[in-house]
Amino acid sequence: MKGLDGKVAVVTGGASGIGYTIVERLLESNVKVAIGDLNEERLKEIEDNYPDQVVGVVTNVTSEEDIKKLLTTAVEKFGKLDYGFNVAGMSKSGLIMDQSFEDWKATVDVVLHGVFLSVKHEAQAMKEHGGAIVNIASLNSHVPMFFGGAYASAKAGVEMLTKNAALELAQYGIRVNTILPGLIRTPLTADFFKNEDLEQAFMERIPEQRPAEPAEVAAPSVFLVSDDASYINGTSLVVDGGWEIT
Ligand code: NAD
Repeated sequence: MKGLDGKVAVVTGGASGIGYTIVERLLESNVKVAIGDLNEERLKEIEDNYPDQVVGVVTNVTSEEDIKKLLTTAVEKFGKLDYGFNVAGMSKSGLIMDQSFEDWKATVDVVLHGVFLSVKHEAQAMKEHGGAIVNIASLNSHVPMFFGGAYASAKAGVEMLTKNAALELAQYGIRVNTILPGLIRTPLTADFFKNEDLEQAFMERIPEQRPAEPAEVAAPSVFLVSDDASYINGTSLVVDGGWEIT
């Protein structure tokens, strides 16, 4: 993909799953990466494996101080920031009628407010020279999720936040796009795949009849920041094996 060589990226949630696979793709293309994640042990491991290319910063994306520290570290260590991948996510599940307000707020805080804080400070770091940002939302930005109202509502917010950011940041040469993954095999969905009946029911709804591997989300994510996507801005790319059209 064009334009990646020598760039610098921040990846939140980069210690696992889709985020880590994006990190691997970036490293293959000679991009330096600052990873912000809660998982200190894993960050250390990745840093040890790639001492010249990776810096890990323990980050809670709900903390503006943490996000500022992540961005400052990236720029101090690697000299600039070109790309932001906002991947960190979690879900506290529950039926709307029963869910505690604390659980609802905790989910929205990470999924939506975490992306707001990340985009805000990434944009500040990029505004002098331009860049590109990818926010990982979900097919559940478009499709409701039984037992996952907080998650789906917050992910819908991420899609609209992306469009607003694209509108505001184009003047600085910063493009902002969203990826909406369907069902991906990662630690986040490991419990789901333990239930064979549930898995089968989902496979019948997905035209591809299989979940995706994280690499199938990482590749289009990296494409969206590359110069090959230079005219793509404010868009939502659904990566779901055709699930949404059924
Ligand atoms: P994962 O659990 O493998 O990785 C998520 C990472 O985010 C972890 O390393 C975790 O430590 C980190 N994280 C969680 N809360 C954080 C916080 N407050 N601050 C910083 N880091 C935090 O999950 P994944 O499946 O790779 O998910 C990545 C993204 O993709 C998430 O936003 C998720 O909602 C989204 N997504 C996943 C799927 C799927 O099927 N796996 C589908 C649609 C969307």
